[in-house]
Amino acid sequence: MEEAKILDSDEDVKDSAQEASVDALSSDGAVEEDVDFFDESDDTDVGVEDEAGKDEVLEGDLVSISETVTSEVPEGAGTGTELRTMGGALQGTEDEHEDGPGIGKGRMGERMAAMGLITEDQLNVALQEKKISGKMLGEVLVELGFIEEDTLTLFLAESSGFGVFDPRNTIVDGEALAILTKTVALEHQILPISFTEDSIYVAMSDPYDVVALDTLRRFMPSRSLQIKPMVTTASILSDAIDASYGYASSIKDILAELEEGKEQKEVSSLNEKEAFMHPIVRLVNALVFEAVKIGASDLHFEPEENFVRLRYRLDGVLFTAQILHKQHWNGISQRLKIMCEMNIADKFSPQDGRFNLNIGGREADFRVSSLPTVHGENIVLRVLDKSESIMPMEALGFSEENLEKLKIATSKPEGIIIVTGPTGSGKSTSLYSILNEINDVEVNIQTLEDPVEYSLPMIRQTHVREGILEFADGIKALLRQDPDIIFIGEIRDHITAEMALKAAMTGHQVYTSLHTNDSFGAIPRLLDLGLKPGMLSGAIIAVFAQRLARRLCKSCRQEHTPNEDECSILGIDKANPPTIYEANGGGCSMCNNTGYKGRVALVEILLFDEELDQLLARNESKAELKAVALKKDFKSMKDDGILKVLEGVTDISAISKIVDIRK
Ligand SMILES: [Zn+2]
Repeated sequence: MEEAKILDSDEDVKDSAQEASVDALSSDGAVEEDVDFFDESDDTDVGVEDEAGKDEVLEGDLVSISETVTSEVPEGAGTGTELRTMGGALQGTEDEHEDGPGIGKGRMGERMAAMGLITEDQLNVALQEKKISGKMLGEVLVELGFIEEDTLTLFLAESSGFGVFDPRNTIVDGEALAILTKTVALEHQILPISFTEDSIYVAMSDPYDVVALDTLRRFMPSRSLQIKPMVTTASILSDAIDASYGYASSIKDILAELEEGKEQKEVSSLNEKEAFMHPIVRLVNALVFEAVKIGASDLHFEPEENFVRLRYRLDGVLFTAQILHKQHWNGISQRLKIMCEMNIADKFSPQDGRFNLNIGGREADFRVSSLPTVHGENIVLRVLDKSESIMPMEALGFSEENLEKLKIATSKPEGIIIVTGPTGSGKSTSLYSILNEINDVEVNIQTLEDPVEYSLPMIRQTHVREGILEFADGIKALLRQDPDIIFIGEIRDHITAEMALKAAMTGHQVYTSLHTNDSFGAIPRLLDLGLKPGMLSGAIIAVFAQRLARRLCKSCRQEHTPNEDECSILGIDKANPPTIYEANGGGCSMCNNTGYKGRVALVEILLFDEELDQLLARNESKAELKAVALKKDFKSMKDDGILKVLEGVTDISAISKIVDIRK
């Protein structure tokens, strides 16, 4: 289980990075000073936004996703007769012309004919062929060329309610693979794909094959794991089993294989089947898999003169995960560009693209950006985990008081609600979560976004494109669609600002975002964009600002009694300090040895009322606004941070990197 180990902990990531680093040194003479494990100083971010802020519910998210991906296969192999029959019906193994119990929806061939997938004539031919060959009906239909294999797979999955296994965008985890030998996998037509905390995903052509399921249970590391079958056709499955078992899948083994330097085909010339076996393709898969598994939000492939550094961003901090030989970069970059449908011939223009993969039983989207540098194309992958885009406000770390303020703001029928923060402050996640919370069949929510990051149910989202559909025109068009609530991704210019304001004053609730440092900064920013103070007065419901601070690892945080200085920062009685927590320097296995796990939002919400509106109308200064707000119940991001330190969620060191704790 060598491959499994690499993915297990950061320790191993470090180890392999160090090993690779040593290699790079010896062969290229590159002077790379060891692995900069926590290098915050030179973040070569290239255009891909860093709006992570979604890492914080990592614990436990696998559980919720796995519940939604597929339905559970019933336990208890003994009661298999019925299931067996169902499986038979699914694969068309029972006699098509005999009245059997079936699954109540008619037999497979008939249903396919009814759906127009095949004609009656084709069905009759296939049934005869099936009798002669003894093969399953589905297989026969594909062999005769009556349906495509993909169509059959989708049909099978749909009839059974299981997920679909697609080897082209599913990464098979070496650790899962290792529980069955290739012989057993082939014999029972079952391919273990990945584990989560409580489930195991397996590809099967017959998800009701109780003998196969029983065999799998015998080899599972824990009997309590739920089996989540993903359906595919027999021939796709056999190919996938061959390819998965035939080749190394761990980063370390693939790198070793590459070191041997066997002649390989150009990555760009591979067909689908060859791609599966090519070491560069397997390496890219393994790297992406590892990054997602440890919860990284971004992967940075950074070519230098003699080597390529791969860094992952985890909880907002970059660290080096691998140092790769420069000689592999051509293949790796080609592969990445093929995956996201970039132009591989063009190495001198910045490009962007997307792709998606099924990793560990969950769908992950990747937004990719390439930027030419003097040493080659720098490529950054942003992980957009759909399961983390929307979460309950409580999970984002909003305090009770802030949740209450938010409720007041969102219940106002018209006006603008502005979310501010720099890139990487998690404001998109908050906006999406708020929209999701107010989403209801009784309201019409429409959005204009650049780009649409996550699709939300029942919300009509429109992608704004420069030169084709700009924000301002988009708002005009949107207003004719009778919306109640409008979300405008970002206000960047005068015309958009004016349109947004107009919408807000004509009975709409408008949500938008601005790049400013704090909530008070939104007002001067809107004035800069050419809006008049008199127009703003009464139109703004609330402005909220947020930042993300690292969350303490619950497994290893240490108790700490604040000293005098810390007491004054926290605003607590020096004579009687409470116990707070701080990060454990060495961390533990739960937090990749960092002492922190996930992030929490530090939030301030500025609710406008009549008094503040009057200040706005008189064009009073930001300082004046703040002074008045503080006399009411305004709490700053710093106050929110201190509250979270006292609650043991984060520590003083973490919030001091985000807000000025001495102000
Ligand atoms: Zn820990």
